[in-house]
Amino acid sequence: MHRHLADDLSRLPDLLRSAQDFAARELAGLAARPVARLDGAPGPAPLPADGTGAEGALARFADRWAPGFSASAGPRYLGFVTGGATPASVTGDWLTSAYDQNGSGAAGSWAAALEHETVRWLRELFGLGEEHTGAFVTGATVSNTVGLAIGREWLGERRGVDVSHAGAAALGPVHVLSGTPHSSVAKALSVLGIGRDRLREVPVLPGGREAVDVAALDAALSALDGRPAIVVANAGTVNTVDFDDLRAIAALRERHAFWLHVDAAFGGFAALSPAHAHLVDGLDAADSVCVDLHKWLNVPYDAAVQFSRRRDLQTRVFHNASPYLGLPTGEPDFLHVTPENSRRLRALPAWFSLTAYGRDGHREIVERNVALAARCGAGIAATDGLRLLAPVRLNVVCFTLSEDPTPERVAALARSVAASGEAFLTPTVFGGVPGLRAAFSNWRTTDADVDRVLAALAAAPTG
Ligand SMILES: *Cc1c(COP(=O)(O)O)cnc(C)c1O
Repeated sequence: MHRHLADDLSRLPDLLRSAQDFAARELAGLAARPVARLDGAPGPAPLPADGTGAEGALARFADRWAPGFSASAGPRYLGFVTGGATPASVTGDWLTSAYDQNGSGAAGSWAAALEHETVRWLRELFGLGEEHTGAFVTGATVSNTVGLAIGREWLGERRGVDVSHAGAAALGPVHVLSGTPHSSVAKALSVLGIGRDRLREVPVLPGGREAVDVAALDAALSALDGRPAIVVANAGTVNTVDFDDLRAIAALRERHAFWLHVDAAFGGFAALSPAHAHLVDGLDAADSVCVDLHKWLNVPYDAAVQFSRRRDLQTRVFHNASPYLGLPTGEPDFLHVTPENSRRLRALPAWFSLTAYGRDGHREIVERNVALAARCGAGIAATDGLRLLAPVRLNVVCFTLSEDPTPERVAALARSVAASGEAFLTPTVFGGVPGLRAAFSNWRTTDADVDRVLAALAAAPTG
């Protein structure tokens, strides 16, 4: 054994304590450090020949890289939709690495059974019935990709084509309809050989809405003359957190044949709040559902869950036939239903957080974030030089400069706020107008944080 390996093995408990002390110091300083680092990272160093041992690696990391890491796990990183990591989920994540289980299947470990238990808990949390089975994947992009891959296989079933063997080309052109799809849907269609250009955006409701106009969707499906399609419904759009009417869309299946995939990456968490659960009414009717977990569940990157009612088609797409693994029968191992074969036990951090805080604890995070977004929206509406681009529907505030909101001036505002170290917001365009988004999904954020964000915005030069 290499001397550093042997040395580290003999001192493993000390090493883990060093890492623990370091992480505890970093997390204690999370709210005080600059939210974002905008200056350049150091250039690449040469590959170490002999190495330093783990203590040396920790010292080098602390010196060379840690100062440039953002406070994205902290309370005022409001860009994209960025959750943090609850204390219990970090505990679970550390143990995931320590145990280093391969979550591909049941062989010789209870790890897969823990994933099944966690998926069942999540299914209940989001109001899905027992017909939905699921698995952990790396993020909503892959969850959308898996759902659309099953939809593609379903189209094959309708047309008498075995897509998993014959290939996507054997299907001919595929029709994918959606109101305000997330950019990852186009990426998924590219990966799946369906093609980005096959995504047709259906008109949305008038009045600054992002929810699909169900009558327009009905008409678009009628125009297909009975050819089956894929519909991507959106439960929580990134700019204004608008929700498609899932029940009304599902009801269209009485007259049209389509696979209904719902992208509920973060909007699915509306189900946790009695005041907002109606927004995801009908989610259970979907054929496949995407929910991100590293966003609003507040588990560490990377984790999402995918659900589907057609495990048979899912297994057709993803099964990994091999003499030493055998063909899937009964309840297929996870490697037969997900893009990966070997896979990290991503369920463990979620299991820890759900066990530690339960449905009520996670509901409290969601409801607090919604209240914080409302507070932030009201503050922005009352700030000279700023105006809302849309009403605050759930947990995202979409706003811009009152006057002359050019892309350059809006970007300058975002840069100035980020340079203050107080908050991080990301740009968007809504209704043709450049703007910024403040997305609330971190378990640590409080009223006092919102007030600091508002103060940073008010102090930023907008002229
Ligand atoms: C974030 C998001 C995605 C993509 O999620 P990743 O975790 O980055 O892959 C897809 N859809 C919606 C609605 C999202 O908000």
